[in-house]
Amino acid sequence: MNKAEIQGVKTLLETPKDIVIIPHKNPDGDAIGSTLALWHYLKKGQHKVTIVAPNDYPSFLKWMPGEAEIVKFDYERDHAKKILKASNVIFTLDFNDLSRIGDMEATVAACEATFIMIDHHQQPSNYAKFMYSNTTMSSTCEMVYHFITFLGDEDMINAEMATCMYTGIMTDTGSFRFKATTSTTHRIIANLIDKGAENASIHNAIYDTNSLSRLQLLGCALKNLVVLEAYNTVYITVSKEELIRYDFKKGDTEGFVNYGLSLKGIKFAAIFIENLQEPYVKMSLRSKGDFSVNEFARAHFNGGGHTNAAGGRSEASMEGTVKKFTEILTEYKSVLS
Ligand code: 5GP
Ligand code: MN
Repeated sequence: MNKAEIQGVKTLLETPKDIVIIPHKNPDGDAIGSTLALWHYLKKGQHKVTIVAPNDYPSFLKWMPGEAEIVKFDYERDHAKKILKASNVIFTLDFNDLSRIGDMEATVAACEATFIMIDHHQQPSNYAKFMYSNTTMSSTCEMVYHFITFLGDEDMINAEMATCMYTGIMTDTGSFRFKATTSTTHRIIANLIDKGAENASIHNAIYDTNSLSRLQLLGCALKNLVVLEAYNTVYITVSKEELIRYDFKKGDTEGFVNYGLSLKGIKFAAIFIENLQEPYVKMSLRSKGDFSVNEFARAHFNGGGHTNAAGGRSEASMEGTVKKFTEILTEYKSVLS
């Protein structure tokens, strides 16, 4: 954010506002962590602040401070619409195109509020008056830390905000190991620990809450893994029947795709998961090095994300999706082999 924009946001927030903060659909640790951290921060002012999430999120995020106050659009549509219509400032966090909020899109697009985007995904759309977009950042949580600092309020960061930001940085960086994890990320993490984030218990709350059925679903997914040696690529499939057999709960398949990428020499890993409610296949894509899964997802599967982590969807059957994927791969042989 440049100085003029920071001043613009400061001036906007100088008087009490009705603020709504929105994460993307199927929010992850960074989306929930960043919206909650900003919510705790803005509530310290004179504002009325509400988080409206498009839908529910996994139970491993349901311990975060303030989480119970999040309004879920798909459960409380009328209430959420009323709050959105009454808002005069809307923050959109961890996404950069209104299509990423699903059924909320039309209501949000019709709002007359001033939009502020804080996000680290590539190719942002132009809907926000104030755009804090930086694709080199590890996470939106790291950006919320910078945002609060830009406004001169680093000292206001308390244990609750620190816990939320720590969680999102940890989940989006694969516990501080992905390329976007910089020395600045580590300095911020150190500050967050000083401000009260309990690193060991946060890690435990996120990662050590497996159910037996989730571990069994992982076993099933790993058995389904297919290696395409010529392309240094792997893919995993998970069918509806398998999800039901292993008592699937939201969030259970998170991180599965990374096992594919951990195979020696693999540059591209994909997981295809049949949606239980609607007839489409959701996919998560991961890569190592220069191969951009963001471009791949945008070009072929109606998705997007980052260079090394992206998502998309396919309206075809599982069989059709795998066929399309393997056919498309031939176009990328020179980049992947
Ligand atoms: P995941 O595979 O963990 O769902 O998502 C990986 C990254 O890609 C995340 O940063 C996520 O926000 C983004 N992403 C996932 N699905 C989609 C999608 O359908 N469209 C776009 N534009 N981004 C996505
Ligand atoms: Mn993120």
